[in-house]
Amino acid sequence: MTILLNSLEARDAAFVLHPYTNASQHLQDGPLVISRGEGIHIIDSEGNKYIEGLGGLFCASLGFSEQRLVDAAMRQMQELPFYHSFGGKSHETAIELAERLIRLAPVPMSKVFFANSGSEANDTALKLVWYYHNAIGKPEKKKVISRWRAYHGVTIASASLTGLPNNHRDFDLPLAGVLHTDCPEFYRYGHPGESEEEFATRCAESLENLILAEGPDTIGAFFAEPLMASGGCIVPPPTYYEKIQAVLRKYDILLIADEVICGFGRLGTMFGSESFGMRPDMISMAKQLSAAYQPISALMVNEKVHAAIVAESEKIGTFGHGFTYSGHPVATAVALETLKIYEERDILGHVQKVAPLFQRRLRALAEHPLVGSARGRGLIGTLELVRDKVTKEPFKPADGVAIHAGKRAQVHGVVTRAIGDNYSLCPPLIITEAEINDMFDRSEKALDDTY
Ligand code: PLP
Repeated sequence: MTILLNSLEARDAAFVLHPYTNASQHLQDGPLVISRGEGIHIIDSEGNKYIEGLGGLFCASLGFSEQRLVDAAMRQMQELPFYHSFGGKSHETAIELAERLIRLAPVPMSKVFFANSGSEANDTALKLVWYYHNAIGKPEKKKVISRWRAYHGVTIASASLTGLPNNHRDFDLPLAGVLHTDCPEFYRYGHPGESEEEFATRCAESLENLILAEGPDTIGAFFAEPLMASGGCIVPPPTYYEKIQAVLRKYDILLIADEVICGFGRLGTMFGSESFGMRPDMISMAKQLSAAYQPISALMVNEKVHAAIVAESEKIGTFGHGFTYSGHPVATAVALETLKIYEERDILGHVQKVAPLFQRRLRALAEHPLVGSARGRGLIGTLELVRDKVTKEPFKPADGVAIHAGKRAQVHGVVTRAIGDNYSLCPPLIITEAEINDMFDRSEKALDDTY
């Protein structure tokens, strides 16, 4: 692309350091500047319209022009634009939101802690794993386990939990004491002749072996996204969590469900934990919590964890954790309105109605010569692109095949993100059946161009 002097594109390249962008390439390519949103569409600075095939970043569940959320923010800004929750202060929308979240929780939960991003919620969860074990007199039970290809964020703690090389390399991560176990992707890691059930058993045995090798008394928690989204839309085998949780129970290890993407209807259930029979002790959430109209995240903790925090306060006083913007009034007001919209418009029912078409169209693309695996659940899915469908040989990173497919998709009017070799789709939850067909028709053209 030609970048005109003093254009928005030129000024972006001059001044902005972009997250998750090839910094060198960006100086040549410049940005795609988005100016407006309309339903599930975004419109760039030149007036081109695209379907947002990834709901922004797996988050814009209600699309890009929901007036009720604008009004909720405006009302709150006029009434109380900021107040904090330190030292026992509170305000109405944070209280109402916390109460609603506890009612929605997939398992009994006790309290909600607010933060601003998924990373902060997971960072908080890791700190609480440590705090909890100190409080209950097990200070040696501090190591935590997540999985290769997990995505839990980018702060020092949450990037350590993340199991993707790009988030560790050159950042001197992961932190000591953050361990990784097998990724439950059957397509890539299942052995020849092995059933999904046997693969699930092998993953659970591998977890148990890691725990035994480290010493069960040193392992405090296991972190898991119900469906691993950013790592390549990995749907675990049906009995995977049953087997994993049996191991966790055996060694008294907390389970933290990272519902940052799965939460609020993405998989056709309110939380991903329900889809997979998970019974977590803490649940982190963000993104669709506010339909992405405000930055907000939350960590729910069960009474076991909360009681330990209370007991610790009786010993040492103040619980020494919190963000200036924990429970920000505008963010909580928008999140509250989001949850009301989900309920009033039966967004969950809508996802259940349209998801079969989404999954049918996705799986039909498994026939495409570039596609090794088409997998997903609810309104999230991926096409894993391979060099050889029979041997599953992956492309080389230098081939940049998913990046190329993403660029062709853009030409055909769909914005998505190449994640490894995955062409991923995770549209706003409000997408209609006609829009699903349109998105897949355009995506198919992009794949044809790439082949
Ligand atoms: N956890 C999961 C499962 C995510 O997908 C993400 C972001 O994509 C995060 C945590 C981090 O959230 P944030 O980018 O808001 O820090």
